Amino acid sequence: MNLGPRSRALRAGDLGPGPVLYWMSRDQRVADNWALALAQRLALDLNRPLAVVFGLSPGFLGATWRQYAFMLQGLREVEARLRALGIPLLVHLGDPGEVVAACGQEYQAAAVVMDFSPLRLPRAWKETVVRRLRCPVLEVDAHNLVPCWLASPKAEFAARTLRPKLWRKIPDFDALPPALIPHPFPWPKVVPPVDWEALASGLAVDRGVAAVTWCSPGESAAQAALDRFLQHGLPFYAAKRNDANAGVQSRLSPYLHFGHIAPWRVFHAVWHSEAPPVSKEAFLEELVVRREVAENFCFYNPQYDEVAGFPAWAQRTLHDHRHDPRREQYRLEELDAGATADPLWNAAQHQLVREGTMPGYVRMYWGKRFLEWLPSPEEALAAAILLNDRYQLDGRDPNGYANIAWCIGGVHDRPWFPRPIFGTVRSLGRSGCWAHFDVVEYVRRIDGEEAATQVPRPPRARRPLPQTS
Ligand SMILES: Cc1cc2nc3c(=O)[nH]c(=O)nc-3n(C[C@H](O)[C@H](O)[C@H](O)COP(=O)(O)OP(=O)(O)OC[C@H]3O[C@@H](n4cnc5c(N)ncnc54)[C@H](O)[C@@H]3O)c2cc1C
Repeated sequence: MNLGPRSRALRAGDLGPGPVLYWMSRDQRVADNWALALAQRLALDLNRPLAVVFGLSPGFLGATWRQYAFMLQGLREVEARLRALGIPLLVHLGDPGEVVAACGQEYQAAAVVMDFSPLRLPRAWKETVVRRLRCPVLEVDAHNLVPCWLASPKAEFAARTLRPKLWRKIPDFDALPPALIPHPFPWPKVVPPVDWEALASGLAVDRGVAAVTWCSPGESAAQAALDRFLQHGLPFYAAKRNDANAGVQSRLSPYLHFGHIAPWRVFHAVWHSEAPPVSKEAFLEELVVRREVAENFCFYNPQYDEVAGFPAWAQRTLHDHRHDPRREQYRLEELDAGATADPLWNAAQHQLVREGTMPGYVRMYWGKRFLEWLPSPEEALAAAILLNDRYQLDGRDPNGYANIAWCIGGVHDRPWFPRPIFGTVRSLGRSGCWAHFDVVEYVRRIDGEEAATQVPRPPRARRPLPQTS
């Protein structure tokens, strides 16, 4: 059994007499899915049926209806695509670890193949499965260009330390998985269509945060978004990606987060496109290096969402400035409502609440303010994560944890010039935004003319900020 370099055995053991099960969790797609391809290869080698199991957690890290609606709609497409291949999708509501362990036992699975995630809760689910089953359990990293555990054996200091390692290894990992074939070994029983409405009604999530309308879920929509970006965004990406009004970012993050599109599909499309090399390079820096350094951070740092997970120099400097006076302070409800004295921040928060997204540069500005406005780094971190995970369509992602830790705790950064409250953690003010985009225009677009008139005049010198390391 050649498992290929993207997989590793979490549990050896004797093959069970039943089917092969693929536990889909983070990579919710049929096309270009190395984990599903490996599961089918295994089933074909063993002459066994194959099923895909999805454990639908009734609540997940503060996710709301916004994120669940997107996910469930995407899974409907997964069901249809699998059905066309003769592979059933079994969806059960419950703790995913328990669901998969129970399915593995009930069907006496030959083996279970699962997705990789660096986050704590999915890792706990995985441990349940490994503990409860006797058959082989294999993990496949179908979410990263280079499998996270092979990209680096340790927590990296910064993007610059991971970058050369990734680029050295990418030629070994950039192949697309083999296409699936109609599965020749049928599932022994007829599986009725998934009752999506019943599943949705069993969720214990906040339905006050509505589904988004700007981004359609699923594999087909993800491919269409990629095609649009190649034509309308990528050619201008290097020059305009930090301009919050330009709309040249790919908006692929929800698809990447839910696994509706494979990073190597995006990588290939960009690599072989006719866009200017400088734009391809800038985009691949984000897609490959920044995204995978975030995975590295969460995988090797169990305290990825705590101040104790910040680098030692940042913890020291934040501690030294812990009691610096804050000119303004806001309660969480005021932040949630976007009711601060800063029209730019308010517009960002309003866009987040209404649309479940913000342009990348605005996210940095938004994330940097928490430290100034809350009484301690601990409260700043908790509030930023809470709002990010509640409203961002792509929230609860390693990218979110790593970037918020960058904003507040200098993760993947270096000490900067000392400032009140921030100490030597890099600060980012409104002038940084003015250097990249018309702040008044952004506020006008989100909050209207009256809010735009409240935006303080830009500082005279518009100096571009240095890039982060
Ligand atoms: C405070 C803060 C919170 C954030 N929260 C999230 C989050 O919850 N989920 C999330 O996916 N991203 C998050 N980001 C990272 C980044 O802002 C978004 O990934 C990006 O803006 C998504 O838009 P896009 O897909 O159009 O990106 P593009 O600019 O088109 O980039 C393509 C892809 O590269 C990756 N990428 C881009 N920028 C970064 C970055 N700075 N770090 C890591 N990967 C990156 C993403 O996967 C993105 O989809 C956050 C950033 C900050 C500063």
